[in-house]
Amino acid sequence: MKLDLNIQPLSSWMKVTSEPLVIAGPCSAETEEQLVATAHLLAKTGKVSALRAGIWKPRTRPGEFEGIGSIGLEWLKRAKDETGLPTAVEVATAKHVEEALNAGVDILWVGARSTANPFTVQEIADALKGVDVPVMVKNPVNPDLSLWIGALERINNAGITKLAAIHRGFSSHEKSAFRNEPMWDLAISLKTHAPHLPLINDPSHITGNRDLIGYISQKALDLDMQGLMIESHIDPSVAWTDAKQQVTPNALVDIINHLALRKPEVKGTELKDKLAELRNQIDKIDDLVIQKMAERMKIVEQIGNYKKDNNITILQVNRWDEILQKGVNYGKALKLSPEFTEKLLELIHSESIRKQTEIMNKDQAGQAAEKLTHA
Ligand code: PEP
Ligand code: MN
Repeated sequence: MKLDLNIQPLSSWMKVTSEPLVIAGPCSAETEEQLVATAHLLAKTGKVSALRAGIWKPRTRPGEFEGIGSIGLEWLKRAKDETGLPTAVEVATAKHVEEALNAGVDILWVGARSTANPFTVQEIADALKGVDVPVMVKNPVNPDLSLWIGALERINNAGITKLAAIHRGFSSHEKSAFRNEPMWDLAISLKTHAPHLPLINDPSHITGNRDLIGYISQKALDLDMQGLMIESHIDPSVAWTDAKQQVTPNALVDIINHLALRKPEVKGTELKDKLAELRNQIDKIDDLVIQKMAERMKIVEQIGNYKKDNNITILQVNRWDEILQKGVNYGKALKLSPEFTEKLLELIHSESIRKQTEIMNKDQAGQAAEKLTHA
């Protein structure tokens, strides 16, 4: 399904001073000096296209620093006047939108917690009606692609055509090296649904750790994302929020200088031919995989019918454990990662269960429908 978004290309509303597009600035505006000094250092790098700063901060616990509030908008104005950098701010209520626009903020973004709540997104969208301002929508905290898409649609329906999405990772129960799991497949899914929608990666909130920002940034660029939003503070060690993930403007330059910029399209014919040949091989293998899956599902159908006739439960846990173990070991021997093989087998298995459930319930559903028509 392609999304029907009415949007303008990123280049029509964002002047990219240096590739890749980098939006940088402190997690929070703390003091006028901190914000203005950080902005000057960032502008001097020549690598930053816009200045970000949180003015109203969504904090998990009450009593934590909840943002400097409206006064920070004046500081942002000064930072912009002195450096020429356009400014970006998170808005979470209609009042934030109004204040930010009155203060001349150039770009607004919807935070992850807001995207998770359609009431909030709609309130922001309503406040944006009739306004021509770029808006970036972060993914929701929970890994739900529809919520992300829904928020983009609400903002777009309000008439905002300068639209982008920000991938900042997702809350997850599982412990990992990241503050928010990237779950790249969700970002790729959004790209598939809306190929023209600019997608910006936020490695700061994904990693929660400045040492991993370069790694995630490279991965995002390799997936053809259009830019990066990176938190930068003049002195991260004393930052009031997100201290561990912020980098000095100097460290930011170092990260950017180490990024390899790869092109989505190949130029030379020789390269093109080689790539086409390799893709051809992959396509053939994909065809085979799908064909084999279809064959497998036909057999699953027979198993379903057999289980039904003999009153056997669909799931036999021992059998599933056995398949999984065997498959993962085989995969390992063939240099596939255990996580990949496990995920693949789980996907195949859940489709088999779905098919068998359908078979088991076919007659029951038929009987129920019959009863209804005769009721
Ligand atoms: C932020 O950008 O500082 C922020 C609060 O991000 P998120 O909404 O992704 O948590
Ligand atoms: Mn932050």
